[in-house]
Amino acid sequence: MAGIERIRNVANRVKHEVDRGNEVAVVVSAMSGETDRLVNFCREASPLYDPREYDVVVSSGEQVTSGLLAIVLQSLGVKARSWLGWQLPIRTSDAHASARIEEINSDAISAAMAAGEVAVIPGFQGMTSDERVTTLGRGGSDTSAVAVAAAMQADRCDIYTDVDGVYTTDPRIVPKARKLAKVTYEEMLELASVGAKVLQTRSVGLAMKENVRVQVLSSFDEPTDNPTPGTMIVGEEELEGNAMERQLITGIAYDKNETKVTLVAVPDRPGAVASIFTPLADANINVDMIVQNVAHDSGSTDVTFTVPSAELARSLDVLERERGTIGYDRLIHDTNVAKISVVGVGMRSHAGVAAKMFEALAARGINVLAITTSEIKVSVLIHEDYTELAVRVLHTAYGLDAEDAA
Ligand code: ASP
Ligand code: MG
Repeated sequence: MAGIERIRNVANRVKHEVDRGNEVAVVVSAMSGETDRLVNFCREASPLYDPREYDVVVSSGEQVTSGLLAIVLQSLGVKARSWLGWQLPIRTSDAHASARIEEINSDAISAAMAAGEVAVIPGFQGMTSDERVTTLGRGGSDTSAVAVAAAMQADRCDIYTDVDGVYTTDPRIVPKARKLAKVTYEEMLELASVGAKVLQTRSVGLAMKENVRVQVLSSFDEPTDNPTPGTMIVGEEELEGNAMERQLITGIAYDKNETKVTLVAVPDRPGAVASIFTPLADANINVDMIVQNVAHDSGSTDVTFTVPSAELARSLDVLERERGTIGYDRLIHDTNVAKISVVGVGMRSHAGVAAKMFEALAARGINVLAITTSEIKVSVLIHEDYTELAVRVLHTAYGLDAEDAA
């Protein structure tokens, strides 16, 4: 949300739903840029801020928009009131700044809604069992919305964002990218975690667990009876009807935030890889792709893997400390890599998806540095300079290009 104009737009949309006879609960986020501003205040106040007080500060952005939206709704003749996280309450864990929702008591808002009042709930915030304010991590309003929808057993959870849906890939790279009418929870999780940042990943996991139908829509469109369809995020069973027409591949994602690490000449013996990955796991470093080469004649092997670039310094630190135990020769890393993933539930029942990917990349001279697969995803690691080319080539290779686009 940005400014009162955007709040008015949201209020009109809510009024439109109310006029159509719907009971509505609205979860709001902060005005755009506001949370960043509040986070910076905390950092300026003290780099070693108390996370409990950080939550008090940053949760206020949503409090402001919830009150303002209620005021604008009232001015339009719609009964409305705000319900802060602690007033429902929305109970969370005590992991300040990234708390998890544990329980929502929706009795009060259900009663208010049944009496014809719109419930306006600030997203992103909750309360611990000892009554301290918490926030759910950046982008957490999406998770609040899904959690409220689940608690109220809502028919649907509409999420209005600054994009109008989920695309087959990033439209800035591929202008022929198509908006997907439906995507499954699992696909969305894979697409979100590999870089298509439309919703907070956690909200998708929650929607899957609670079976909430989530619709992604544009917040820029005017409210109408026939809104431009966004993307519905649904269970796989909802796709079955049109499984035949469905593309084998749903989307292509990329992620430039990983770094490749290689340990040269690790002794080729049982326990060698455990001695690498156990200390990394103990340090809470999330390793993604792993490749181990065949052993050299010398009885050693190279081990390559990726870590989030943000964790590189810590990873190198751990590996240098463990050098004696692991017994490698050299430690090298490369931040100029990108992970390209093709995602689709269709590949469960089809062979040849990976082969097609490798062929398409080879035809353009793009070298593959590492590979991982899951039931519905194939990822390759390539040089970062080829990211855009690879995404475009694969988008065409899997027949995802829109026909009518320029
Ligand atoms: N305002 C919070 C943030 O920017 C939560 C959200 O917008 O989803 O992270
Ligand atoms: Mg958001």
